[in-house]
Amino acid sequence: MNRPYRTLNSYLREQYGVKLRKICIDGGFTCPNRDGTCGTGGCIFCGERDAGEQLNPSLSIRAQVEAALEKADPEALWIAYFQNFTNTYAAPEVLKERYDAALFDPRIRVLDIGTRPDCIDETIAALLASYRERCEVWVELGLQSANEQTAARINRGYQNHTFTHAVRLLKQYNLPVIVHMILGLPGETQEDIRNTIAFLNRHQIDGIKLHSLFVMKDTVLADWYQSGQFTPISMQTYIEWAMDALTLLDPNIIVHRLHGNCLRKLLLGPDWIIRRDMILYSIDCRMKQNGWRQGCFFTKEPSLAVPCETAYSLDF
Ligand code: SF4
Repeated sequence: MNRPYRTLNSYLREQYGVKLRKICIDGGFTCPNRDGTCGTGGCIFCGERDAGEQLNPSLSIRAQVEAALEKADPEALWIAYFQNFTNTYAAPEVLKERYDAALFDPRIRVLDIGTRPDCIDETIAALLASYRERCEVWVELGLQSANEQTAARINRGYQNHTFTHAVRLLKQYNLPVIVHMILGLPGETQEDIRNTIAFLNRHQIDGIKLHSLFVMKDTVLADWYQSGQFTPISMQTYIEWAMDALTLLDPNIIVHRLHGNCLRKLLLGPDWIIRRDMILYSIDCRMKQNGWRQGCFFTKEPSLAVPCETAYSLDF
């Protein structure tokens, strides 16, 4: 299907001729925003097992990968996605051992690492880049919003300059950066979303994952939701805001996802987030009706992330 934005599937087909499947891995990491290093309790929407409720941490990393490979077509190609918590939060030798454990099969073509910008340094960037001889390497960073007040409200645990610094470092090592952004965060307006998209455009990121904020059981956000302190946005609002974000987004950025994922048994609300096909269909149809495409209202601005003599300088 010809979508009005640059999809991950189209990129994968260009590169590999087929769509790659994803193996979601629990690498046995924790998060500095939960263990007290930079915060406790984590981001307000993060559950006890982060996004990894469907994963099986009792299996070794290799066994998790083997289980996925065994279930599918032997010709399939794969992305090994270290998803749960902060997957660069350990000593480099531990990281290497865990990444190596997932990369035993040549059908795995992408090593995809989900992490936080405050857990990227030069040693880690160099380690990740060393895998580029073996496969593609992607780094996923959870920004959620470029509004510092929102970041404090959701207990993100780092400031925007940390994100800029990490993106610069990863770019120095030619590592593609995929950013997670949430629409409908407490107190945010459409203007905040536009500002976050402009901020991302200035970082020349490579990919984006968008979804609306949903409420999982046993989170701080669940308490806010049940006490009436937080009301999720409607599906209609999400579609409007997501379309607006896409029209402003740099057309070179690959859209990895436009919906959230949550097990039904853990979802408190809103129910509409599980209607993924309806969300994607509505965005497609509405954008096409309006004659909109990704980046149709994009304006290029100087980069904040490329380490060269640009007009910008940041005070860290
Ligand atoms: S950074 Fe990620 S793993 Fe850590 S608390 Fe926030 S959402 Fe959870």
